[in-house]
Amino acid sequence: LVQRAYNFNAGPSALPLAVLEKAQQELIDFRGTGMSVMELSHRSAAYEEVHNNAIALLKELLSIPENYEVLFLQGGGSLQFSMVPMNFLKPGEKAGYIMSGSWSEKAFSEAKLFGDAYHVASTKEGQYRRVPQIDELKYNPTDAYIHLTSNNTIYGTQWKEFPDTGDVPLIADMSSDILSKPFDVSKFSLIYAGAQKNLGPSGVTVAIIRKDLLEKANPNIPAMLKYSTHSKNNSLYNTPPTFGIYMLGEVLNWIKETGGINELAKRNEEKAKLIYDAIDQSNGFYIGHAEVESRSLMNITFRVKDEELEKKFLTEAKNEGFIGVNGHRSVGGCRASTYNAVPFETCKAFSEFMVKFQNENR
Ligand code: PMP
Repeated sequence: LVQRAYNFNAGPSALPLAVLEKAQQELIDFRGTGMSVMELSHRSAAYEEVHNNAIALLKELLSIPENYEVLFLQGGGSLQFSMVPMNFLKPGEKAGYIMSGSWSEKAFSEAKLFGDAYHVASTKEGQYRRVPQIDELKYNPTDAYIHLTSNNTIYGTQWKEFPDTGDVPLIADMSSDILSKPFDVSKFSLIYAGAQKNLGPSGVTVAIIRKDLLEKANPNIPAMLKYSTHSKNNSLYNTPPTFGIYMLGEVLNWIKETGGINELAKRNEEKAKLIYDAIDQSNGFYIGHAEVESRSLMNITFRVKDEELEKKFLTEAKNEGFIGVNGHRSVGGCRASTYNAVPFETCKAFSEFMVKFQNENR
């Protein structure tokens, strides 16, 4: 029996055991080719099947409408921060950024390099304890686009309902919650996500883009940084991260076999509830960072009531085998990332540990 860690890493993060086992089994001789996926030509029929299958599965699982393209890119969520304004923010236009955490700030500062970007709303003053409410969003109907971060990995907040921006293209960084719950793709013109939290290993970035937006892009940018280059070439313009795309396809397959996104959403709620209950029933021993209505089901952020105890908590958690429970280095505290592939049992063990630690240290 494999001894798997209680892995709460924020990304790269836990992958489904079944996927790892399948990859292991197929590693040396991928489906009769006599080589691993990593050794296949990206122009071979065997690889093309892997590639197209991953695209088809993503379209199926997210019910992506016909007028969208799925792209596999590189450079992580961070390169998307630059590619978005490079492609879609033209001279004389404005882009609105909804500020809900550190990743929105990073996206915004890249946009400033290319054009006129402004804040549509910001919850920074309240230490990003919540996402903005829809009626707080103030933008112009002529904006090039509005950008938001669907789940704030560091602060542990998440949008429950997305705004409807009408004719203004809505662009979302869904790096840390894509495929964790159902949502309506057609509200967005562009969605992007680094794979390393909910979709697979690091090295692949998924983009889902509405075809009409592709046509509006700035033509005077390097080929690799244009969405249209990748869309015209089915994400095979240059050598894609083939092994990562294979793993992504297998994760999508696992999601499908598990019952799809609705089933994952149900499981994610149950998992997060175990840990939020430990916080809420602690009489202030544990203090959640996020306001209740904005709580993330993916990153649960909290503090222990005093600093010394918090240090002790983190040390004991580590000693008990809970990996990745330290908050992001920029904010400290504690964070449990409960992405799709983190098992219920892992969350249950952690919530029990929280209760036990409180009882021993009250
Ligand atoms: N956006 C969000 C919401 C993230 O959580 C992260 C990484 N943690 C990034 C963007 C940056 O992604 P990458 O490391 O893939 O560049």
